[in-house]
Amino acid sequence: MLTTGSSQEVGKQVEQEKKNGKTIGFVPTMGALHKGHISLVEQCRKECDYTVVSVFVNPTQFNDKEDYKRYPRVPEEDSMMLEQAGCDLVFMPAEQEIYPQPDKRVFDFGLLDKIMEGAFRPGHFNGVAQVVSRLFDIVKPDKAFFGQKDFQQLAIIRQLVHQLSLPIEVKGCDIVREADGLAMSSRNRLLSPRQRQAAPLIYQVLLKAKKMVNELTPEQLKTYVAEQINVNGELKTEYAEIIDAGSLQPVTNWHMAASVQLCVAILVGKIRLIDNIRLI
Ligand code: AMP
Repeated sequence: MLTTGSSQEVGKQVEQEKKNGKTIGFVPTMGALHKGHISLVEQCRKECDYTVVSVFVNPTQFNDKEDYKRYPRVPEEDSMMLEQAGCDLVFMPAEQEIYPQPDKRVFDFGLLDKIMEGAFRPGHFNGVAQVVSRLFDIVKPDKAFFGQKDFQQLAIIRQLVHQLSLPIEVKGCDIVREADGLAMSSRNRLLSPRQRQAAPLIYQVLLKAKKMVNELTPEQLKTYVAEQINVNGELKTEYAEIIDAGSLQPVTNWHMAASVQLCVAILVGKIRLIDNIRLI
């Protein structure tokens, strides 16, 4: 496994592999890796000949400075996990390498980023688009792998690739969970033991909600989900949205969309966790 902070070096390596007829797969991450990230690497290895992983905590996607400062950074641990997972190239750039000048680009995702994460974290998806488009430009992958855990992000990335007419296939991968159901997240390691004990309730309520689709309207179900999660004093629902999985627009009755997703953001003290489940 080769590790570099140089985008030029990444470009050179990838070009060489492509010359040899290899397909390039790419997994962008912010590090503090867990089995969710590793599942993306495994999927990438199944589908591509050469696997590139980036580890970069992107400042432009953090609307909350404290969240950026607090975000876990464990590059040595990450390297070991990636080596073990069979990654070929790790790109661990410094901020200067990704943003030699401030990135002033403003993206327009229409209605896709007007709700949920986009509404509660102003500028977040613009920052995501900045870093991902920059990384795509450096790595030039054939396929890129993203987790369904960040459901809205996946839709935004697909739209970004479409808007920029990039020859990249975007793949969405299943959510990997802890044994107690909590969706794996780099932020989970910031939870206190008490908070960690409370957090599995989030997925328990999502599962319950899935069973109640025939009994409640979407509006009633949203309220139910928020109330049930807030029962535990450690958890505070920021939003519970029920959306058309394609357009990400809220649904008001169950027949409005072929595929319906329930997405939540939960504050656990200062730590913000997201999760989602397919209802229909
Ligand atoms: P992050 O490091 O949080 O930016 O995540 C990097 C990639 O890993 C994103 O595509 C995430 O959606 C994905 N990811 C994060 N957590 C999980 C999980 N529990 N299961 C599957 N994919 C995940």
